[in-house]
Amino acid sequence: MIKRVKTKKIFVGNVAIGGDSRISTQSMTYSKTRDVKATVEQINRLHFAGADIVRVSVPEVEDANALKEIKKLTKLPIIADIHFNYKLALISAEFVDGIRINPGNIGDKKRVTQIVKACQERNLAIRIGVNSGSLEKQFDNKYGQTPKGMVESALYNIKYLEDLGFENIKISLKASDVLRTVEAYKSLRPLVNYPFHLGVTEAGTLFQSSIRSSIALGSLLLDGIGDTMRVSITGELEKEIEVAKEILKSLGIIKEGLNIISCPTCSRLEANLVDAVEIIKEKTKHIKTPLDVSVMGCVVNAIGEAKNADVAIAYGKGSGLIIKKGKVIAKLGERELVDKFLSEVEKEIKKIEKIEKSS
Ligand code: SF4
Repeated sequence: MIKRVKTKKIFVGNVAIGGDSRISTQSMTYSKTRDVKATVEQINRLHFAGADIVRVSVPEVEDANALKEIKKLTKLPIIADIHFNYKLALISAEFVDGIRINPGNIGDKKRVTQIVKACQERNLAIRIGVNSGSLEKQFDNKYGQTPKGMVESALYNIKYLEDLGFENIKISLKASDVLRTVEAYKSLRPLVNYPFHLGVTEAGTLFQSSIRSSIALGSLLLDGIGDTMRVSITGELEKEIEVAKEILKSLGIIKEGLNIISCPTCSRLEANLVDAVEIIKEKTKHIKTPLDVSVMGCVVNAIGEAKNADVAIAYGKGSGLIIKKGKVIAKLGERELVDKFLSEVEKEIKKIEKIEKSS
Protein backbone atom coordinates (compact mmCIF):
# COMPACT_ATOMS: atom_id res chain seq x y z
CA MET A 1 0.00 0.00 0.00
CA ILE A 2 1.47 3.36 -1.04
CA LYS A 3 1.40 6.01 1.68
CA ARG A 4 1.20 9.33 -0.06
CA VAL A 5 3.12 12.33 1.30
CA LYS A 6 0.42 14.85 2.12
CA THR A 7 1.12 18.19 0.52
CA LYS A 8 -0.64 21.53 0.34
CA LYS A 9 -3.66 21.40 -1.98
CA ILE A 10 -3.77 23.89 -4.84
CA PHE A 11 -6.00 24.21 -7.90
CA VAL A 12 -5.33 24.59 -11.60
CA GLY A 13 -8.76 25.53 -12.88
CA ASN A 14 -11.07 22.90 -11.43
CA VAL A 15 -8.30 20.29 -11.03
CA ALA A 16 -7.04 19.87 -7.47
CA ILE A 17 -3.34 19.09 -7.08
CA GLY A 18 -1.83 17.85 -3.83
CA GLY A 19 -3.46 17.12 -0.50
CA ASP A 20 -5.81 14.17 -0.85
CA SER A 21 -6.61 14.82 -4.51
CA ARG A 22 -5.95 12.15 -7.12
CA ILE A 23 -2.71 12.29 -9.11
CA SER A 24 -3.44 14.17 -12.31
CA THR A 25 -1.80 13.72 -15.70
CA GLN A 26 -0.78 16.43 -18.09
CA SER A 27 0.89 17.04 -21.41
CA MET A 28 1.95 19.90 -23.63
CA THR A 29 0.91 21.01 -27.11
CA TYR A 30 3.55 21.36 -29.84
CA SER A 31 1.65 23.61 -32.27
CA LYS A 32 2.48 27.30 -32.47
CA THR A 33 0.13 28.58 -29.81
CA ARG A 34 -0.83 31.52 -32.02
CA ASP A 35 -2.25 28.95 -34.46
CA VAL A 36 -5.56 28.76 -32.61
CA LYS A 37 -7.08 26.04 -34.80
CA ALA A 38 -4.11 23.66 -34.43
CA THR A 39 -3.71 24.32 -30.71
CA VAL A 40 -7.41 23.79 -30.01
CA GLU A 41 -7.27 20.56 -32.01
CA GLN A 42 -4.32 19.31 -29.94
CA ILE A 43 -5.90 20.31 -26.62
CA ASN A 44 -9.10 18.50 -27.58
CA ARG A 45 -7.11 15.41 -28.53
CA LEU A 46 -5.49 15.44 -25.10
CA HIS A 47 -8.87 15.92 -23.47
CA PHE A 48 -10.20 12.90 -25.34
CA ALA A 49 -7.11 10.89 -24.32
CA GLY A 50 -7.90 11.57 -20.66
CA ALA A 51 -5.47 14.37 -19.78
CA ASP A 52 -6.41 16.54 -16.80
CA ILE A 53 -4.34 19.62 -17.63
CA VAL A 54 -2.56 20.97 -20.71
CA ARG A 55 0.43 23.28 -20.97
CA VAL A 56 1.10 25.56 -23.92
CA SER A 57 4.28 27.49 -24.61
CA VAL A 58 4.07 31.26 -24.93
CA PRO A 59 7.23 32.57 -26.57
CA GLU A 60 5.71 35.69 -28.23
CA VAL A 61 2.94 38.24 -27.66
CA GLU A 62 0.86 36.68 -30.47
CA ASP A 63 0.88 33.39 -28.55
CA ALA A 64 -0.25 35.07 -25.33
CA ASN A 65 -3.05 36.91 -27.11
CA ALA A 66 -4.25 33.70 -28.81
CA LEU A 67 -4.96 32.17 -25.40
CA LYS A 68 -8.18 34.18 -25.10
CA GLU A 69 -9.75 32.39 -28.07
CA ILE A 70 -8.17 29.03 -27.24
CA LYS A 71 -9.62 29.13 -23.75
CA LYS A 72 -13.11 29.78 -25.12
CA LEU A 73 -12.90 26.77 -27.44
CA THR A 74 -11.48 24.17 -25.04
CA LYS A 75 -12.35 22.59 -21.71
CA LEU A 76 -9.06 21.50 -20.14
CA PRO A 77 -7.35 23.80 -17.64
CA ILE A 78 -4.48 25.55 -19.43
CA ILE A 79 -1.05 26.43 -18.06
CA ALA A 80 1.00 29.05 -19.89
CA ASP A 81 4.69 28.19 -20.10
CA ILE A 82 6.73 31.39 -19.88
CA HIS A 83 10.44 32.09 -19.98
CA PHE A 84 12.29 35.42 -19.67
CA ASN A 85 9.53 37.86 -20.69
CA TYR A 86 7.29 38.85 -17.78
CA LYS A 87 4.89 40.71 -20.08
CA LEU A 88 3.87 37.41 -21.67
CA ALA A 89 2.91 36.12 -18.23
CA LEU A 90 0.85 39.24 -17.55
CA ILE A 91 -1.11 38.87 -20.79
CA SER A 92 -1.52 35.10 -20.38
CA ALA A 93 -2.73 35.42 -16.79
CA GLU A 94 -5.90 37.08 -18.12
CA PHE A 95 -6.96 33.88 -19.85
CA VAL A 96 -5.31 30.77 -18.38
CA ASP A 97 -5.56 28.64 -15.22
CA GLY A 98 -1.91 28.56 -14.19
CA ILE A 99 1.54 29.85 -15.10
CA ARG A 100 4.84 27.99 -15.30
CA ILE A 101 7.89 30.18 -14.76
CA ASN A 102 11.33 30.13 -13.29
CA PRO A 103 11.25 33.37 -11.30
CA GLY A 104 15.05 33.40 -11.59
CA ASN A 105 14.98 33.81 -15.35
CA ILE A 106 12.32 36.51 -15.34
CA GLY A 107 14.94 38.84 -13.88
CA ASP A 108 14.15 42.02 -11.97
CA LYS A 109 12.14 41.41 -8.80
CA LYS A 110 9.66 44.12 -9.77
CA ARG A 111 8.69 42.05 -12.80
CA VAL A 112 8.20 38.89 -10.77
CA THR A 113 6.13 40.94 -8.33
CA GLN A 114 3.83 41.97 -11.17
CA ILE A 115 3.36 38.34 -12.25
CA VAL A 116 2.64 37.28 -8.69
CA LYS A 117 0.10 40.10 -8.31
CA ALA A 118 -1.64 39.08 -11.53
CA CYS A 119 -1.81 35.45 -10.34
CA GLN A 120 -3.01 36.47 -6.87
CA GLU A 121 -5.83 38.55 -8.34
CA ARG A 122 -7.04 35.58 -10.40
CA ASN A 123 -6.18 32.84 -7.91
CA LEU A 124 -3.77 31.24 -10.40
CA ALA A 125 -1.13 28.74 -9.34
CA ILE A 126 2.49 29.10 -10.40
CA ARG A 127 4.68 26.12 -11.16
CA ILE A 128 8.33 26.67 -10.39
CA GLY A 129 9.79 24.50 -13.11
CA VAL A 130 13.43 23.73 -12.38
CA ASN A 131 15.29 22.00 -15.21
CA SER A 132 18.85 20.74 -14.72
CA GLY A 133 19.83 22.18 -18.10
CA SER A 134 18.76 25.73 -17.32
CA LEU A 135 19.79 26.42 -13.73
CA GLU A 136 20.52 29.97 -12.72
CA LYS A 137 24.22 30.81 -13.14
CA GLN A 138 24.95 30.97 -9.42
CA PHE A 139 23.75 27.37 -8.91
CA ASP A 140 25.19 26.05 -12.15
CA ASN A 141 28.61 27.52 -11.32
CA LYS A 142 28.59 26.23 -7.75
CA TYR A 143 26.99 22.79 -8.11
CA GLY A 144 26.83 22.04 -11.85
CA GLN A 145 23.74 20.26 -13.18
CA THR A 146 23.41 18.15 -10.05
CA PRO A 147 20.44 17.30 -7.81
CA LYS A 148 21.95 19.65 -5.22
CA GLY A 149 22.00 22.47 -7.75
CA MET A 150 18.37 21.73 -8.72
CA VAL A 151 17.22 21.69 -5.12
CA GLU A 152 19.07 24.92 -4.29
CA SER A 153 17.51 26.56 -7.35
CA ALA A 154 14.04 25.40 -6.29
CA LEU A 155 14.52 26.66 -2.72
CA TYR A 156 15.77 30.00 -4.04
CA ASN A 157 12.76 30.36 -6.33
CA ILE A 158 10.30 29.24 -3.67
CA LYS A 159 11.68 31.85 -1.28
CA TYR A 160 11.46 34.41 -4.05
CA LEU A 161 7.70 33.85 -4.28
CA GLU A 162 7.14 33.36 -0.55
CA ASP A 163 8.84 36.70 0.15
CA LEU A 164 6.17 38.23 -2.06
CA GLY A 165 3.48 36.52 0.03
CA PHE A 166 2.71 33.93 -2.66
CA GLU A 167 2.26 30.27 -1.74
CA ASN A 168 -0.04 28.99 -4.50
CA ILE A 169 2.90 26.98 -5.82
CA LYS A 170 3.80 23.60 -7.27
CA ILE A 171 7.30 22.48 -8.08
CA SER A 172 9.07 20.35 -10.65
CA LEU A 173 12.73 19.29 -10.64
CA LYS A 174 13.44 17.67 -13.97
CA ALA A 175 16.65 16.19 -15.32
CA SER A 176 16.99 14.08 -18.45
CA ASP A 177 18.08 11.00 -16.54
CA VAL A 178 16.50 8.85 -13.86
CA LEU A 179 19.04 9.12 -11.06
CA ARG A 180 19.33 12.91 -10.88
CA THR A 181 15.57 13.33 -11.23
CA VAL A 182 14.78 10.92 -8.41
CA GLU A 183 17.47 12.28 -6.11
CA ALA A 184 16.39 15.88 -6.65
CA TYR A 185 12.72 15.20 -5.85
CA LYS A 186 13.58 13.02 -2.86
CA SER A 187 15.98 15.63 -1.46
CA LEU A 188 13.50 18.47 -1.72
CA ARG A 189 10.44 16.55 -0.47
CA PRO A 190 11.18 16.87 3.29
CA LEU A 191 12.05 20.55 2.96
CA VAL A 192 8.77 21.95 1.58
CA ASN A 193 5.06 21.20 1.69
CA TYR A 194 4.15 22.24 -1.85
CA PRO A 195 2.76 19.72 -4.35
CA PHE A 196 5.20 18.20 -6.84
CA HIS A 197 4.78 17.94 -10.60
CA LEU A 198 6.81 14.86 -11.58
CA GLY A 199 8.63 14.35 -14.84
CA VAL A 200 11.85 13.34 -16.54
CA THR A 201 12.66 16.03 -19.06
CA GLU A 202 13.68 15.28 -22.64
CA ALA A 203 13.10 11.62 -21.87
CA GLY A 204 13.37 10.52 -25.51
CA THR A 205 11.30 8.32 -27.79
CA LEU A 206 8.22 6.37 -26.76
CA PHE A 207 10.36 3.33 -25.89
CA GLN A 208 13.09 5.22 -23.98
CA SER A 209 10.73 7.56 -22.21
CA SER A 210 8.37 4.79 -21.15
CA ILE A 211 11.26 3.04 -19.42
CA ARG A 212 12.91 6.14 -17.93
CA SER A 213 9.63 7.64 -16.78
CA SER A 214 8.37 4.36 -15.35
CA ILE A 215 11.53 3.90 -13.31
CA ALA A 216 11.84 7.52 -12.12
CA LEU A 217 8.19 8.39 -11.61
CA GLY A 218 7.38 4.87 -10.47
CA SER A 219 10.02 4.91 -7.77
CA LEU A 220 8.93 8.36 -6.55
CA LEU A 221 5.25 7.41 -6.58
CA LEU A 222 6.04 4.23 -4.63
CA ASP A 223 7.54 6.48 -1.97
CA GLY A 224 4.34 8.52 -1.94
CA ILE A 225 5.97 11.44 -3.77
CA GLY A 226 4.12 13.18 -6.60
CA ASP A 227 0.84 15.00 -7.10
CA THR A 228 0.68 15.56 -10.85
CA MET A 229 2.83 14.19 -13.65
CA ARG A 230 3.93 14.49 -17.23
CA VAL A 231 5.63 11.76 -19.23
CA SER A 232 7.68 13.59 -21.90
CA ILE A 233 7.83 11.71 -25.19
CA THR A 234 9.35 12.61 -28.54
CA GLY A 235 6.21 11.52 -30.33
CA GLU A 236 2.47 11.91 -30.36
CA LEU A 237 0.58 13.65 -27.58
CA GLU A 238 -1.80 10.84 -26.69
CA LYS A 239 1.10 8.50 -25.90
CA GLU A 240 2.18 10.76 -23.02
CA ILE A 241 -1.18 10.31 -21.34
CA GLU A 242 -1.37 6.62 -22.21
CA VAL A 243 2.02 5.92 -20.58
CA ALA A 244 1.30 8.15 -17.57
CA LYS A 245 -1.97 6.32 -16.93
CA GLU A 246 -0.29 2.94 -17.37
CA ILE A 247 2.29 3.89 -14.71
CA LEU A 248 -0.51 4.88 -12.32
CA LYS A 249 -2.46 1.71 -13.17
CA SER A 250 0.60 -0.50 -12.68
CA LEU A 251 1.09 0.94 -9.21
CA GLY A 252 -2.57 0.40 -8.35
CA ILE A 253 -3.01 4.16 -7.92
CA ILE A 254 -5.82 4.30 -10.46
CA LYS A 255 -8.13 1.73 -11.95
CA GLU A 256 -9.23 2.76 -15.41
CA GLY A 257 -10.08 0.88 -18.61
CA LEU A 258 -8.99 -2.63 -19.43
CA ASN A 259 -6.20 -4.15 -17.37
CA ILE A 260 -4.94 -6.68 -19.92
CA ILE A 261 -2.94 -9.66 -18.68
CA SER A 262 -1.37 -11.39 -21.67
CA CYS A 263 1.28 -14.08 -21.81
CA PRO A 264 4.67 -13.49 -23.46
CA THR A 265 4.09 -16.54 -25.75
CA CYS A 266 6.33 -19.58 -26.10
CA SER A 267 6.59 -22.66 -28.25
CA ARG A 268 3.40 -24.09 -26.75
CA LEU A 269 1.42 -21.33 -28.47
CA GLU A 270 -0.62 -22.52 -31.47
CA ALA A 271 -2.49 -19.29 -32.26
CA ASN A 272 -1.85 -15.69 -33.33
CA LEU A 273 -2.01 -14.22 -29.84
CA VAL A 274 0.10 -11.12 -30.56
CA ASP A 275 -2.37 -9.84 -33.18
CA ALA A 276 -5.32 -10.77 -30.98
CA VAL A 277 -3.98 -8.66 -28.07
CA GLU A 278 -3.29 -5.71 -30.39
CA ILE A 279 -6.84 -5.86 -31.78
CA ILE A 280 -8.30 -6.06 -28.27
CA LYS A 281 -6.15 -3.14 -27.08
CA GLU A 282 -7.13 -0.98 -30.07
CA LYS A 283 -10.85 -1.78 -29.93
CA THR A 284 -11.18 -1.19 -26.19
CA LYS A 285 -9.07 1.94 -25.77
CA HIS A 286 -12.21 4.11 -25.45
CA ILE A 287 -13.31 2.19 -22.34
CA LYS A 288 -12.82 4.01 -19.03
CA THR A 289 -14.62 1.53 -16.76
CA PRO A 290 -12.06 -0.69 -15.01
CA LEU A 291 -12.12 -4.32 -16.08
CA ASP A 292 -9.60 -7.13 -15.59
CA VAL A 293 -9.12 -9.34 -18.64
CA SER A 294 -6.60 -12.00 -19.62
CA VAL A 295 -5.53 -13.33 -23.00
CA MET A 296 -3.37 -16.44 -22.65
CA GLY A 297 -1.73 -18.72 -25.17
CA CYS A 298 -2.48 -22.13 -23.66
CA VAL A 299 -4.00 -23.83 -20.67
CA VAL A 300 -0.74 -23.85 -18.63
CA ASN A 301 -1.50 -20.51 -16.92
CA ALA A 302 -4.73 -19.52 -18.64
CA ILE A 303 -7.14 -21.11 -16.17
CA GLY A 304 -5.33 -19.62 -13.17
CA GLU A 305 -5.25 -16.13 -14.70
CA ALA A 306 -8.86 -16.44 -15.86
CA LYS A 307 -9.96 -16.98 -12.27
CA ASN A 308 -8.94 -13.38 -11.50
CA ALA A 309 -10.29 -11.94 -14.74
CA ASP A 310 -13.74 -10.61 -15.59
CA VAL A 311 -13.37 -11.93 -19.14
CA ALA A 312 -10.62 -14.18 -20.52
CA ILE A 313 -9.45 -16.07 -23.56
CA ALA A 314 -7.52 -19.33 -23.25
CA TYR A 315 -6.13 -20.32 -26.65
CA GLY A 316 -5.70 -23.93 -27.71
CA LYS A 317 -4.88 -25.56 -31.05
CA GLY A 318 -7.15 -23.93 -33.68
CA SER A 319 -9.74 -23.07 -31.03
CA GLY A 320 -10.04 -21.67 -27.54
CA LEU A 321 -12.19 -20.96 -24.53
CA ILE A 322 -14.01 -17.82 -23.45
CA ILE A 323 -14.05 -17.68 -19.68
CA LYS A 324 -16.08 -15.26 -17.55
CA LYS A 325 -15.31 -14.89 -13.85
CA GLY A 326 -13.58 -18.27 -13.90
CA LYS A 327 -16.39 -20.13 -15.75
CA VAL A 328 -16.05 -21.41 -19.32
CA ILE A 329 -18.94 -19.93 -21.31
CA ALA A 330 -17.93 -20.87 -24.86
CA LYS A 331 -15.55 -22.99 -26.91
CA LEU A 332 -14.97 -21.43 -30.34
CA GLY A 333 -12.71 -21.57 -33.37
CA GLU A 334 -9.69 -19.24 -33.20
CA ARG A 335 -11.23 -16.75 -35.67
CA GLU A 336 -14.36 -16.23 -33.59
CA LEU A 337 -12.67 -15.83 -30.22
CA VAL A 338 -11.74 -12.14 -30.32
CA ASP A 339 -15.22 -11.00 -31.47
CA LYS A 340 -16.92 -13.06 -28.79
CA PHE A 341 -14.44 -11.78 -26.18
CA LEU A 342 -15.14 -8.14 -27.20
CA SER A 343 -18.89 -8.63 -27.04
CA GLU A 344 -18.57 -10.16 -23.55
CA VAL A 345 -16.39 -7.22 -22.48
CA GLU A 346 -19.08 -4.78 -23.72
CA LYS A 347 -21.74 -6.74 -21.80
CA GLU A 348 -19.69 -6.59 -18.60
CA ILE A 349 -19.08 -2.86 -18.99
CA LYS A 350 -22.81 -2.20 -19.49
CA LYS A 351 -23.59 -4.29 -16.41
CA ILE A 352 -21.08 -2.38 -14.26
CA GLU A 353 -22.30 1.00 -15.56
CA LYS A 354 -25.91 0.04 -14.83
CA ILE A 355 -25.02 -0.91 -11.24
CA GLU A 356 -23.06 2.33 -10.80
CA LYS A 357 -25.98 4.41 -12.10
CA SER A 358 -28.48 2.76 -9.80
CA SER A 359 -26.29 2.99 -6.68
S1 SF4 B 1 0.45 -19.25 -21.37
FE1 SF4 B 1 1.13 -21.05 -22.54
S2 SF4 B 1 1.75 -20.16 -24.51
FE2 SF4 B 1 1.64 -18.46 -23.09
S3 SF4 B 1 3.76 -18.30 -22.35
FE3 SF4 B 1 2.61 -19.53 -20.87
S4 SF4 B 1 3.02 -21.63 -21.50
FE4 SF4 B 1 3.57 -20.33 -23.23
